[in-house]
Amino acid sequence: MSNKIIKLNLGSMAVKPKKTAASDAEQISKLRASQSPIAISVNRCPTWTSLDPLKFKGYWDNVGSGILLNTGQTAYFTFETKSQPRLSGGPVIGEYIFEQMHFHWSVDDFTGCEHVLDGHGYAAECHLVHYNSKYESMEAAVAHPDGLAVVGFLLEAVDAPNPSFDKFVEGLDQIRKQDTAVQLPSQSLAWIDREDVTSGSYVTYKGSLTTPPYTECVTWIIYEKPVQIGTEQLGLLRQLEGAGSIPIERNVRPTQRHPPGHSVIYVDQVKSKL
Ligand SMILES: [Zn+2]
Repeated sequence: MSNKIIKLNLGSMAVKPKKTAASDAEQISKLRASQSPIAISVNRCPTWTSLDPLKFKGYWDNVGSGILLNTGQTAYFTFETKSQPRLSGGPVIGEYIFEQMHFHWSVDDFTGCEHVLDGHGYAAECHLVHYNSKYESMEAAVAHPDGLAVVGFLLEAVDAPNPSFDKFVEGLDQIRKQDTAVQLPSQSLAWIDREDVTSGSYVTYKGSLTTPPYTECVTWIIYEKPVQIGTEQLGLLRQLEGAGSIPIERNVRPTQRHPPGHSVIYVDQVKSKL
């Protein structure tokens, strides 16, 4: 046997033990689910760097327009187009189809988020709700532990307005009354930074809906870095009216207890090597 052949064998052995991204995502999919939201101590979470980067397809370049609706409980955004954005990679297996985006907020700048990272409260939290493409619909998906994937952004109130929220905020101004809706261009998602979502760190765990019936069917993905929103822009969420034309003051579920053995993973997204 020549040296050359031995070298080649060593090379292939060195590659073999590396776990594939799919097996890591499978491990997360087997975590025990619990109620959401939760308070998370980020530095106590195991850190994973081997997951595939999250892929967001069709969120910003969707050709169609969206509808922003005041449901009386929240501001609720959907795309009108047939081809919905799709989420893949990271802790999710397969593709998840975008269904809707909505917001949680409160009367002050610190209790409007549902998830709490390292004890930090924020003014609001945004949820992008997706259902697993292997199920026929959102309604069918909710019956399965791998049914939904929700991407969450914490919103931090700051003095200066964030111009990338302008289109969205213009819409909020027009849906103050319950059950009113307005058409919005897909650029209303411009505040979601493409670079941040594909390279930013996040925590992930298996949890539940934070509104009734609180079904445990959600893979949560919560970005660590908050998105900044101007205090005045945020004020438009707080002006939305619910039943009896009374402003929706607070639509946040309190944090829930972790059951023993429950796991949250901190994911450091490593830029893909070209
Ligand atoms: Zn929500």
